[in-house]
Amino acid sequence: MIEVRELVKRYGGRLAVDGLSFTVESGQVYGFLGPNGAGKSTTMNMMTGYLGPTAGEVLVDGHSVADEPEEAKRRIGYLPEQPPLYTEMTVDEYLEFAAALKKVPRADRARQVDRAVERTRLGEVRRRLIRNLSKGYRQRVGIAQALLGDPEIIILDEPTVGLDPKQIIEIRALIRALAAEHTVILSSHILAEVQAVCGQILIIHRGRMVASGAPAELERRLAGSQALDVVVKGEEAA
Ligand code: ATP
Repeated sequence: MIEVRELVKRYGGRLAVDGLSFTVESGQVYGFLGPNGAGKSTTMNMMTGYLGPTAGEVLVDGHSVADEPEEAKRRIGYLPEQPPLYTEMTVDEYLEFAAALKKVPRADRARQVDRAVERTRLGEVRRRLIRNLSKGYRQRVGIAQALLGDPEIIILDEPTVGLDPKQIIEIRALIRALAAEHTVILSSHILAEVQAVCGQILIIHRGRMVASGAPAELERRLAGSQALDVVVKGEEAA
């Protein structure tokens, strides 16, 4: 469903993404695991069409993201690392506004907002100003926004970073529920996080793929590889 081929992003002299290739199949929950600065956000920004690659390409259902960014944005719902929420709006106002930006037809907006609110369990706070919500609720608003337009694929950049343990458990449950209807790609710098929700994991370090596989398979390989251990466990301890 998503094919990433030899993707490269260079910022001046720095190679942020250095020849990444992988495929995400329809229905998978796919995790990017890597330390800060590994290139996860840069890769996601290129997969969603917000950033152009220096080289390589991303195909979504055969459509080139660079050539048809609007098509990619229609098929992919994206939660960026720091979603730019308008904090002086209520949740409802904000999601209505976001639905309009996503070109959801006016007649369908209220229904789509209702469904996104329901799926992210925001019902009790939907009339509150975003400014007054906890970080966990704000993250759910970002996920609700990603669901507008009913995209097939949901990409979540570090969805649990900065949340407390209770909020993390809630967001994980939410991700599992989303996985029943969408292909989900998420990033994290914590091994346990991707192990808890992903069926397939790609370990990224310095813009390159270090390893990929199912969680159990990766765990076996991690046990036998000091190099992988440094990438994964070293950052987890940090
Ligand atoms: P994090 O969890 O810290 O966001 P990440 O794995 O998502 O890490 P990226 O944000 O993709 O990593 O960054 C990859 C590398 O590219 C880093 O070295 C970062 O400093 C650099 N980088 C990212 N964005 C830019 C930019 N706009 N200009 C210059 N360098 C950048």
